[in-house]
Amino acid sequence: MASGFLPSGNNNLPTYTVRVSDRAKSVRLSLSVEAGLEVVIPADYDRQNIPELIQKKKDWIARNQLKLDQREAFFQSQSPHQLPDRINLRSLGEEWQIEYSPTFTKSGAIAIQEKRTELKLVVNGNITDVEACKFFLKQWLMKKAENHLFRWLRKTSLRLELPYRTTAVRNQKTLWGSCSRDRNISLNYKLLFLEANVVEYVLIHELCHTVHMNHSDRFWKLVSKFEPNYKSLDKSLNHAWQLIPAWLNC
Ligand SMILES: [Zn+2]
Repeated sequence: MASGFLPSGNNNLPTYTVRVSDRAKSVRLSLSVEAGLEVVIPADYDRQNIPELIQKKKDWIARNQLKLDQREAFFQSQSPHQLPDRINLRSLGEEWQIEYSPTFTKSGAIAIQEKRTELKLVVNGNITDVEACKFFLKQWLMKKAENHLFRWLRKTSLRLELPYRTTAVRNQKTLWGSCSRDRNISLNYKLLFLEANVVEYVLIHELCHTVHMNHSDRFWKLVSKFEPNYKSLDKSLNHAWQLIPAWLNC
């Protein structure tokens, strides 16, 4: 995979970058907070066609840019710089209360104590260091995600009889999950905040990619075999980011 950067040209086109992907069969546009507007092209694609393509897709780009902007505005309005007093892990049906306890440790480190029976987390240490508290809460979430999502994926994989090779939990801003050509599945730890049936759908979706590495009709047909309600579940993922607490996004 290689990347390149092209200036936007002169006819008022939005700024974009070009990424050459070995996996792309045809040209596609991708818009994200991290990468902005990207034109993903197969290696043999004629770059001269790109400005015209951008011109043609201007409405789509504007519409989706607006969506992204609204999403950012939503997060900004959620006072992301405050520490949470609870963490609602919908997928597990667990709502954790968080208590902050200022204690002075020699190293100034933060330590998280889990009181499982009360579903309570106690954050000990220098709690005036908001960023450090967030960091350790995120670490706790990542571990939680590994514990639950790995087992969950394994169970679903056995049920569907669709094996995968390895799995990893990651912190991705816009992807809920992904599956590589080698059948390695990555899952976003933020899935913990979604409803269980939506998480199950994401797992099914990624497992079906072990058979079809695309979103072809055959892929969707396989998905529908395991989850007939896949269309509305897939749609619900567009709004699911609203369930992610703002403090995790900055
Ligand atoms: Zn997919």
